[in-house]
Order: sequence, then structure tokens, then C-alpha cells
Amino acid sequence: MSDCIFCKIVNGEIPSKKAYEDDKILAFYDLNPVAPVHILIVPKIHINSIVDLDSKSIEYVTYIMTKIKDLAKELGVDESGFRLVTNVGDDGGQTVEHLHFHLVGGRPLEWPPG
Ligand code: 5GP
Repeated sequence: MSDCIFCKIVNGEIPSKKAYEDDKILAFYDLNPVAPVHILIVPKIHINSIVDLDSKSIEYVTYIMTKIKDLAKELGVDESGFRLVTNVGDDGGQTVEHLHFHLVGGRPLEWPPG
């Protein structure tokens, strides 16, 4: 989508600090980290949010899940633990309408969230 900032990050129009990339997904550091470790993992195709998946695009989510263990290890939070979050809509706190998973860690995280 032409006006989507994460599509622009995926295609290099907006720079980002990359944590991982392959032909299907990109993981990059959040601009405003909420913890010592905070990356965003996005599919390279535009999907608004987790509720907009279909039988084809869900393959991207499955694929992202297979990468989480290695990403957590690379970021040094595989043993201490971390949180994987996707926000949906206004009440969910979604500010960018391109499906993304926050991988957050590096400190003890509170529950429930604010
Ligand atoms: P959401 O609130 O939609 O769940 O998460 C969007 C996240 O994207 C926020 O944590 C925000 O800091 C991050 N973000 C917004 N714009 C940019 C950007 O241009 N670059 C990077 N690296 N992160 C961004």
C-alpha cells in the first residue's frame, strides 16, 4: 500500500535498523522502544491486522512464528523470556495498520498491560 509506513520500510523508502530479513518477512528495531529489546516483525505483503488474514496470507504469520525462537536467541532474550504482541484497532493500541508483532524483552514486563 503506497501510504503505509511499514510498506515503505519494507521497500527501503524509509530507513530502519534491521534485525532480520528474508524474502517473506522483515524484523526491525522499533523507533520508540518500550524495553531494552523491542523489535517489530512484519510480513512483506500488506495486511492491515491479524483480523484481516485469509487462508493464503495466514502463511506469513505461521512463517513468522517459526522465526521467533531464533530471533529471541539472537536478541539475547530466549532464556530470560519476552513478550510477543500484536495490537488490533483503537482499543488495542494499533497505530500502524500493517500487521506487525512486537517482540519485547530485556526487563521484567508487567501484566496486565495498561
Ligand atoms: P502499534 O502501536 O501499531 O502496535 O505499533 C506501531 C509501532 O511502530 C510503535 O511501537 C512505533 O514506535 C513504531 N513505529 C512507528 N513508525 C515507525 C518508523 O518509522 N520506524 C520504526 N522503526 N518504528 C516505527
